[in-house]
Amino acid sequence: MADIIKLLPDHVANQIAAGEVVQRPASVVKELLENAIDAGASTIKLIVKDGGKNLIQVVDNGKGMSPTDARLSFERHATSKIQKAEDLFNLNTKGFRGEALASIAAIAHVELQTKMESDEVGTQIKIEGSKIISQEVMVTPKGTSMLVKNLFFNIPARRNFLKSNHVELRHITDEFHRVALAHPGIAFHYYNNGSELFNLPAVNYRKRIVQIFGGKTNPKLVPVEEETQVVKISGFVNKPEFAKKSRGEQFFFVNDRFIKSPYLHHAVVAAFEGLIRPNTYPGYFLCLEVDPGTIDINIHPTKTEVKFDDEHTLYALLRSTIKHSLGQFSVVPAIDFDQDPNLNTPYSFKDKEVELPKVAVDATFNPFAESTSKPQGNSGGAKGYSNFSKPSTKGWENLYEGLGSEKEDGNPFASIEFESEVITGSIFKDENVEEESATTTFQLRRKYIVTTIKSGMVVIDQSRAHQRVLYEKFLKNITIQEAVSQQLLFPLSLSFSTADVTILKEIQGQLTTIGFAFNALNDDKVEITGVPLQVTESEVGMVLEQLISDYQMEIVGDSFSQTDILSKTLSKTLSVKTGAVLDNASQLALVNDLFACKEPGLSPFNKPTYITITENDIDKKFI
Ligand code: ADP
Ligand code: MG
Repeated sequence: MADIIKLLPDHVANQIAAGEVVQRPASVVKELLENAIDAGASTIKLIVKDGGKNLIQVVDNGKGMSPTDARLSFERHATSKIQKAEDLFNLNTKGFRGEALASIAAIAHVELQTKMESDEVGTQIKIEGSKIISQEVMVTPKGTSMLVKNLFFNIPARRNFLKSNHVELRHITDEFHRVALAHPGIAFHYYNNGSELFNLPAVNYRKRIVQIFGGKTNPKLVPVEEETQVVKISGFVNKPEFAKKSRGEQFFFVNDRFIKSPYLHHAVVAAFEGLIRPNTYPGYFLCLEVDPGTIDINIHPTKTEVKFDDEHTLYALLRSTIKHSLGQFSVVPAIDFDQDPNLNTPYSFKDKEVELPKVAVDATFNPFAESTSKPQGNSGGAKGYSNFSKPSTKGWENLYEGLGSEKEDGNPFASIEFESEVITGSIFKDENVEEESATTTFQLRRKYIVTTIKSGMVVIDQSRAHQRVLYEKFLKNITIQEAVSQQLLFPLSLSFSTADVTILKEIQGQLTTIGFAFNALNDDKVEITGVPLQVTESEVGMVLEQLISDYQMEIVGDSFSQTDILSKTLSKTLSVKTGAVLDNASQLALVNDLFACKEPGLSPFNKPTYITITENDIDKKFI
């Protein structure tokens, strides 16, 4: 039989390798930015169009390449960064595999222009799907420009697999953040579809963080500094009170390379033990410098994981250093001497004239008409338990109906028979709500509402139940667009990072349907003039931040509907929490509202909201 094994042609091998190196436009951005840094650039420009699907360009003022190097750079395993295997253990560059350019050129249209300082003229090379189209002498400035067009043009399956432009752009922006944070001494410019997203002059680390994440970040930062023989730790952690429920601004850099390390993350969280609420996470921007010989960055093709020789020592050092910084911070308030005062004033306010506050009065407001026309009473209580103490009018009527006349229709408790049905009518005539409800519900360990039914009792998880109530309410509001917005007396100005504003813009439509009103929504200024009834002014910032981070995380997964994310986040953020004391009226209102829901048994996150314990169950325990 004839031999059947053949060596794959280079372009095929490159395409296969590309599958590993280039997952999406953001991977190309990462590789090109890293090459520019390795080339010693002091200014780097990133230009993308259509989420990077149609164009990515990185221009640097680094050392450039000779004509021969320019041609060679597209060969597989062609690198100037290592020569022998031992070099792998003493890496000072980002790249070393010599695979990136070969892979990118295999699956896109690439145009390279490059010139070394010492050369008179530069080189231009065009490659499409590994095929050299042209190589010419060209007048160009010192440095390199790498233009990547039509990514995956020859692999339609991969191209179709890409997400929408804004999702791809977000991945690119994440990558850009990581690189820009690791190199505050390099100036970066970032343009998307012709508009400038970031313009970051070279600064120190703290200012780079502020440049990227906005002026509100600055007062949150606590400096962390420690130098030992094993590692030099520097950077910042956020003050404990700014810990978030979601993972967000958490960055580890090892020798200027962004890495992910669940183990070291744990060390940071451990340092915050006792200072932050459970299930919240501190933000951090930490740089570790170690001897390159003590780490192995070779274990992951996209190189975000690193293996340390002595992880345990690192863990302990990191934990104690952060603890120490936090301790110092709570005794001596951090004074930042090189703080730029301009960072504290949003520029939009700098030259702004003083405006007289305007007071908006709703002339049609009638406090006595409230119970029937305004939705806030029934199934409300959204603002937290305090709101429950308002009479939940419609709900109460239902309750009385059901109990008093024993009519079942319209009774939210139709599926559950309440023991209180046997209570004599005289109690229902009683005006004192408190006393009446005391007979039907009580709160257990500030966590559960217990109420009796004919066959035994129901134990309701107060937080989950309230989430369900709010979730259905918000879903309904968004769907039928009947949300009531409360006008703020003074517009509320909040500051968000550029990336956050992009997300807010994406969901602005939905935010409006649930009652948010924006006066301005752009990079310099987010001004809010109206909020949903259930949200208080002081909660607005928190709610929006939570929304942004949930939206970001959800986008990574596949299934998402903006409406659903929005409703879930709002219900989670605004629901009463475990630990909140609920008075009897609130307890009853919650029970009432829960069983008026379409799906009372499950929280929006698919957890049970209540359990029933029957008389039978109890009897069994007494055997
Ligand atoms: P690696 O970065 O792993 O060496 P690449 O395929 O990314 O592999 O790049 C191959 C080579 O091309 C690099 O080693 C470097 O010599 C050269 N090169 C790539 N980009 C640039 C750039 N922007 N400026 C100067 N040289 C570059
Ligand atoms: Mg490289």
